[in-house]
Amino acid sequence: MSNKETYILSLDAGTTSERAALFNQEGKLVGQVARPIKQIYPHPAWVEHDPMEILSTQVGVMSEVLVKYGVQSSQIAGIGITNQRETSIVWDKNTGLPIYNAIVWQCRRTADMVAKLRRDNIPDLIQKKTGLILDPYFSASKIAWILDNVEGAREKAEQGDLLFGTVDSWLIYKLTQGEVHATDYTNASRTMLYNIHELAWDDELLELFNIPRSMMPEVRSSSGDFGVLSPELYPGSLRITGVAGDQQASLFGHCCFEPGMVKNTYGTGCFMLMNTGDHAVSSQNGLLSTIGIADGDKIQYALEGSVFIAGAVIQWLRDELKLIESAQETEALALEAKSTDGVYIVPAFTGLGAPYWNPEARGLICGLSRGTNKAQLVRAALESMAYQTNDIIQAMQKDSGLSLSQLAVDGGASVNTFLLQFQADILRSELIRPEISETTALGAAYLAGLALGYYKDKKSLLDLHQTTRIIPNIDEEKRNSRLKGWHEAIKKTLL
Ligand code: ADP
Repeated sequence: MSNKETYILSLDAGTTSERAALFNQEGKLVGQVARPIKQIYPHPAWVEHDPMEILSTQVGVMSEVLVKYGVQSSQIAGIGITNQRETSIVWDKNTGLPIYNAIVWQCRRTADMVAKLRRDNIPDLIQKKTGLILDPYFSASKIAWILDNVEGAREKAEQGDLLFGTVDSWLIYKLTQGEVHATDYTNASRTMLYNIHELAWDDELLELFNIPRSMMPEVRSSSGDFGVLSPELYPGSLRITGVAGDQQASLFGHCCFEPGMVKNTYGTGCFMLMNTGDHAVSSQNGLLSTIGIADGDKIQYALEGSVFIAGAVIQWLRDELKLIESAQETEALALEAKSTDGVYIVPAFTGLGAPYWNPEARGLICGLSRGTNKAQLVRAALESMAYQTNDIIQAMQKDSGLSLSQLAVDGGASVNTFLLQFQADILRSELIRPEISETTALGAAYLAGLALGYYKDKKSLLDLHQTTRIIPNIDEEKRNSRLKGWHEAIKKTLL
């Protein structure tokens, strides 16, 4: 590797692993390293991570990627951080040590605390101010739990000795040796304590959850100065200049800069974000409103929806039904089937999410006949990912009044070209699959690079962005009859 070339180092602190990736000025992925982190389950439905392990693993992969690809720290133009969102860490500012493990976004320990808040106008108030739905998923109740359950925590918090941060803030604080206690707009918008219209921590919500304001990090633009890595620990004046939560980083990495653009990540579940421009939409369909893009002074909002069971239905075919040996087989099988002949799988294993919202619903397979075969069931499972995605995108369009201008896709299942073609057909919209599938890390790199002039502007990012297009190719009648069948199947799960 040439000594003159410089790179953006992207740190991706995910739910299951810490990654470090290098991107060059052409926006190409030059190299990456990932290491898993331990999942801690102290009780059923409780999920924790060790904040020190997050830090040491992240620092480890950061050094490893430089060594592995022969890059010196002087060749790093800047650092971008992206992270699992909502996961909450509280630490003592005198010692720099966490007072409890990180409580992970998936953790349901505060379900009772949150249920008690479902009274009066509290859920409405929360939705109005934060765009979120009152739920244990977000940081607020997790912070409150730590203050209520760790001995001496409340007292220390009231004396101003404790600090809170999502994983980005924790890493920034530790990497700068306590110089910077900050987060970015996108991460702040997932705490349920941040007023997304006024762009400020909300005193009424802090009071509701009994959280001292002194704990909260300063909120900054996603593209800008987040401090220099402590020179004693990390020589080379390494500067953090980009920060965003993982889904928002991915939206940025897909260059979804215009209202109406949507990105969908097809993983275990699906995560969708629609750029709604300067308008924070109040959803009538149970979608979340959040800060989507915050690279400058102008905030762009987003609507967010998720499919609970997407790629997981393929895992179910493999692990429970033993119909297939690997997810890779599904594409050939689906193409072999040609049609499901009216078979639908609704994988409502954990209830139905947006826009139906029925936690009691359970999955079904319908339309079976004597001739139904394995290939058709596999095809129906893949199609279910596309139908569920379509349902959410229709809800997003209805809520926002915007029409879908393009769907950018990534995630493990997005390698399946049958799935993408079927998705394009059902949506009647073009799909865009980027050449670099690590859009989360790429988004953080774009944000960091823009702040430094390493990437000139958003327009130049669009020029760098290499994609494949998938064009809809179905007649209207066929599409309508398939969608009709899907909605009938949904109705059956709701009985
Ligand atoms: P996550 O980040 O949620 O763990 P990934 O993005 O790694 O997920 O994607 C893994 C999911 O994608 C699994 O649920 C798997 O069943 C599904 N998957 C992987 N490859 C394919 C494929 N070729 N076709 C369909 N689904 C696939």
